[in-house]
Amino acid sequence: MQRSNGPSASYTLPAAAPWQLLVPDLWVDDLEAIDLDRLGRHGIRCLLVDIDNTLIPWGEPLPDARAYRFVERARRAGLQVVILSNARRGRRAAVAAALGVPAVRSGFKPRRSVFLAAAALVGCRPEQAAVVGDQLWTDVLGGRRAGMFTILVDPLGAEESLLTRAITRPVERAVLRWLARRGRLPAARVQARLAGRRRSVQQGRPGTGRRPG
Ligand SMILES: [Mg+2]
Repeated sequence: MQRSNGPSASYTLPAAAPWQLLVPDLWVDDLEAIDLDRLGRHGIRCLLVDIDNTLIPWGEPLPDARAYRFVERARRAGLQVVILSNARRGRRAAVAAALGVPAVRSGFKPRRSVFLAAAALVGCRPEQAAVVGDQLWTDVLGGRRAGMFTILVDPLGAEESLLTRAITRPVERAVLRWLARRGRLPAARVQARLAGRRRSVQQGRPGTGRRPG
């Protein structure tokens, strides 16, 4: 799928107002755009990585070459990877086993305790953990509440669960527009994400017929 992406940008804001819990520390196009060595130099020791539409497209049963490449890059940078996903337990376990990394076994993002448990799995304190995910309401909100560095990526594809499509994304789009209007996020970057998403939905993508599970 061809996505429209604006320039990547980074943000560091003091946490104070509630809306700041929805502003990522870093926003990039995808996993490949994350400078892992730089994270390491800034004290990050582990990456808590979402599965669906972050690591692999929603509905794909197992990691693809891109996912293996990311985990390998993280290893070379000295960062531990933990799978932190709201996908079903079997899917989490299968993806983690294929990649040779641990996964959080229970809990639901954005609960703070799940993020803390994920970091603890590999002996990391919250300030040593970076959360990587494609959703504001789960990945960014939960990570910020847990006092972690948060990295937002644009979704890999348009296919998602019914819950995400029907509820989470429409609210996310409204929040992104609101943050852009208030100058809290760059309007061009927000528009690029929303435009890419709309185009993906309009064009559609051949369904795989598989559901995560
Ligand atoms: Mg996701």
